[in-house]
Amino acid sequence: MVDFSQRRLSPWSKAPAGTGSMTGLGADGTSPMSVASFRFYAELNDFLSDKEESREQVRQFDVGGSVKDFIESFGVPHTEVDLVLVNGHPVDFSYTVRDGDRVSVYPVFESLDISSVSRVRREPLRDLRFVADVHLGRLAAYLRLAGFDVRYGNSASDAELARVVAREGRVLLTRDRYLLMRAEVSRGYWVRSTEPRQQLLEVVKWFDLGGSMRPFTRCLKCGTALREAGWEAVRERVPPGVRGRNAFRLCPTCQRVYWEGSHYVRMRTLLAWVKAEAS
Ligand SMILES: [Zn+2]
Repeated sequence: MVDFSQRRLSPWSKAPAGTGSMTGLGADGTSPMSVASFRFYAELNDFLSDKEESREQVRQFDVGGSVKDFIESFGVPHTEVDLVLVNGHPVDFSYTVRDGDRVSVYPVFESLDISSVSRVRREPLRDLRFVADVHLGRLAAYLRLAGFDVRYGNSASDAELARVVAREGRVLLTRDRYLLMRAEVSRGYWVRSTEPRQQLLEVVKWFDLGGSMRPFTRCLKCGTALREAGWEAVRERVPPGVRGRNAFRLCPTCQRVYWEGSHYVRMRTLLAWVKAEAS
């Protein structure tokens, strides 16, 4: 597949107003132009401007590219797309767009029964593990708090994030839609909200994780699964005054110790809210 980031960003120009139909001549008056039309459904309209939303979009082009590149030229990352129909037939992302094609682009869309047609995604999103981009540190911690496996580093480059997705099959969480357009990023989600607690709720809802939450089972700092530990194992790592509590958890990677301290109630309240809102 073509790496979009290595191409000129706009290989196709938008059809000027009033030239939605085939004119027969290109802008230079010599080469014949091809025309394809695109329609985006449901949440994919989040990526379009108000003017473009829910309308048929026309693209003129002289060289056909992959349908992935065409879709992303509208600002819609391929990771948000679950099904592409061309003239009513499902295609994969490598399909080369031809003159006269009518392209329908659907998001992950549960109410639409598309079980009988093949989707563009190579594998279903099972075994959900995440990698969060550098701007989503709070969301990463909240997801860990809820028990999900999240990789996060505050200095990871875009290329490193893309490699983690490709190598480990993780879902990339980001607010940067252009990061999701990289070809090696086959699983990703563009986080709409800017507020961390709302982001947590959004991700739990989007991936239907309400029933998979395992609160307080992972290290918030490094994401490792915690182990139960007795007082003797943790006594040198906790402040005086917590001895009376007997439920400790220890991170085997970074040695951080967790117990039901003052933050615990607040965190439990947050997770209860997410669970209630997501169900
Ligand atoms: Zn840790």
